[in-house]
Amino acid sequence: MNVYEEVSRFYENFEGEKKIIGESEEGRALYAFFIGRHEPPVGISQAAIHGREYITALLSLAHIERGIKRGGFWVLPLTNPDGALLSEEGISSVREKKILLEMNGGTDFSLWKANARGVDLNVNFDAKWGDGVKNLRFPGPENDIGEAPFCAKESMALAAFTREISPDLTVSWHTKGEEIYWRFFQPFFRRQRDRRLAKILSRAVNCPLREAKGSVGGYKDWCIEKLKIPAFTVEVGSENLTHPIKREYLIELIERYGGALNALAEGFHGRAIHA
Ligand SMILES: [Zn+2]
Repeated sequence: MNVYEEVSRFYENFEGEKKIIGESEEGRALYAFFIGRHEPPVGISQAAIHGREYITALLSLAHIERGIKRGGFWVLPLTNPDGALLSEEGISSVREKKILLEMNGGTDFSLWKANARGVDLNVNFDAKWGDGVKNLRFPGPENDIGEAPFCAKESMALAAFTREISPDLTVSWHTKGEEIYWRFFQPFFRRQRDRRLAKILSRAVNCPLREAKGSVGGYKDWCIEKLKIPAFTVEVGSENLTHPIKREYLIELIERYGGALNALAEGFHGRAIHA
């Protein structure tokens, strides 16, 4: 069973509140699961926006199973299903075979990060879009910003859903390096607030806080800049592992990162400061 089939089956069997928030460029469902209660803080946890990082989708299913003790979370395990399947199963998983083979320059798609149109979804958000040091302006396995912010169906769906929910915080799951990113040009008061929560997350998952200089246009960046909420990117898995991280490491990842949503919910203080 591939990762999309696994998340789809989980969705069919899930008895709680759930929703399909949109579809991918190849028509696959973008699933959202609600855990906890509709009381503050309500967060969004989204994973596998980069294809080859699909192990984070399985970590998200563990987050859903664990549940939440305070507030609630919308969990979106697989933001980029087409990219995940390209990485996991290769070119057989998509319709647009010829053009994707050209973009990729070969048949090995294991390191693919983008969606099925060669747009890197995590540089396609409207937050200093196009100003990143690694940004590219042509489709490919990674770093293509797209023709405009939100030109990709997946990033558009995620942004629209986030606006609809208006969460108190968000967390994004990536691989790898065991570190946390939390900054994006916040003014003083929000920086203090966000650093405090970042430290709580850091202690809960035993990962240091880092700065991603020159990295813009991501979901976390957009949440911080446009929604003015705390937003975090967690890079799971040892830097020594190779992409894509094999399923045999999932148990370790769940042990280390399984409590993250509860730590964020418990550590959150009050509503956003609109500074
Ligand atoms: Zn990533």
